[in-house]
Amino acid sequence: MVNTVSFKTTKSDEIFAAAQKLMPGGVNSPVRAFKSVGGQPIVFDRVKGAYIWDVDENKYIDYVGTWGPAICGHAHPEVIKSLSEALEKGTSFGAPCYLENILAEMVIDAVPSIEMVRFVNSGTEACISVLRLMRAYTGRNKIIKFEGCYHGHGDMFLVKAGSGVATLGLPDSPGVPKSVTSDTLTAPYNDLEAVKKLFADHPDEIAGVILEPVVGNSGFIVPDAGFLEGLRLITEQNGALLVFDEVMTGFRISYGGAQAKFGITPDLTTLGKVIGGGLPVGAYGGKKEIMAMVAPSGPMYQAGTLSGNPLAMTAGIKTLELLQKPGTYEYLEEITHKLISGLLTIAKNTGHKVTGGNISGMFGMFFTGEEVHNYDDAKKADTSKFARFHRGMLERGVYLAPSQFEAGFTSIAHTEEDINQTLAMAEEVLKEIPA
Ligand code: PMP
Repeated sequence: MVNTVSFKTTKSDEIFAAAQKLMPGGVNSPVRAFKSVGGQPIVFDRVKGAYIWDVDENKYIDYVGTWGPAICGHAHPEVIKSLSEALEKGTSFGAPCYLENILAEMVIDAVPSIEMVRFVNSGTEACISVLRLMRAYTGRNKIIKFEGCYHGHGDMFLVKAGSGVATLGLPDSPGVPKSVTSDTLTAPYNDLEAVKKLFADHPDEIAGVILEPVVGNSGFIVPDAGFLEGLRLITEQNGALLVFDEVMTGFRISYGGAQAKFGITPDLTTLGKVIGGGLPVGAYGGKKEIMAMVAPSGPMYQAGTLSGNPLAMTAGIKTLELLQKPGTYEYLEEITHKLISGLLTIAKNTGHKVTGGNISGMFGMFFTGEEVHNYDDAKKADTSKFARFHRGMLERGVYLAPSQFEAGFTSIAHTEEDINQTLAMAEEVLKEIPA
């Protein structure tokens, strides 16, 4: 047992009951509410390294990592120290600050497609802005996105979206007028023929294709061999832009993200999560020629009161510095592979049909015996079995994303012992669940 106190959630339940009267569903972001796994969400008290403590003093090994940013482990001492020093100088300037140059240089050096970058405050903002830029640059309005991919909650992306939309099984959201999404075309992930058909049906109308180069928002789904290459070619042939939404994969599956890992360079890229080191940051960037369209150097308007603020820049810089240490991504690959291969073996040995995988510190497992190449495949996974698995792990001190349609994350703070303990707990839980 990781958790050394006997599992009880009295205080969590009390706080969450009060929260439900104060905030919609008691939360400020839907997937946190445990809707798809049942039970009450856990209210956290503090986080450190690979661990979380809740308000009832239960301790968990954490595989959510605040949904990706905590790649160095929570509250890394060097990040905290840099932040405390930065804090002394103030929290926001609303004016240029030297730290923006440093993080911008680091991002430009690391990410192959990015020659120039604009910082914003979230992945959602980055994706909304990049869409405007795609349209401004090409003079075309339509875009292609993939079913089950999530690009934040911007109106025009809430079409067959992943993450909370998938978890809660929501239809396209009310409040999003048809006129706003009529230019959003969708295709199944990993289906190049569907993309070709959309381009053939809408000649000279499509500004570009946006995708998660490795999907994390309908569970963990990898691109089939040739898929990213195919998209690069099709977009070039049609005078359209290719955009990688690397909010999740950026600095996560390799230092240069999915584009460095797979050797495919998009025209534009969005980032978030890791580059903020746990503070609110997003970014979009790409070829200079395209980024020159952004105000004030060009006519495409986009702005932000807190964008590039010194605290967020500091946490980002320190996090990226820590990630530059040789061996970081090899270590993440090693422990995460040990975790997922262990889980798959245990599940199979206990009679469960599962599939899953990892790239570096990003992983996922579905309760289905069939391969998962897209969102429709993912939806065939057994959600009630996942709910039981999630609950069993939670009670034993392992905190997993409360949905099968979300990727999991490890950090450099996770030890082999953490992985061993997790696997031991998984064996107990999977034995209890009827196959
Ligand atoms: N794009 C992707 C690929 C994401 O995973 C997310 C968040 N999970 C977003 C965009 C939106 O980012 P944020 O939640 O910071 O607005």
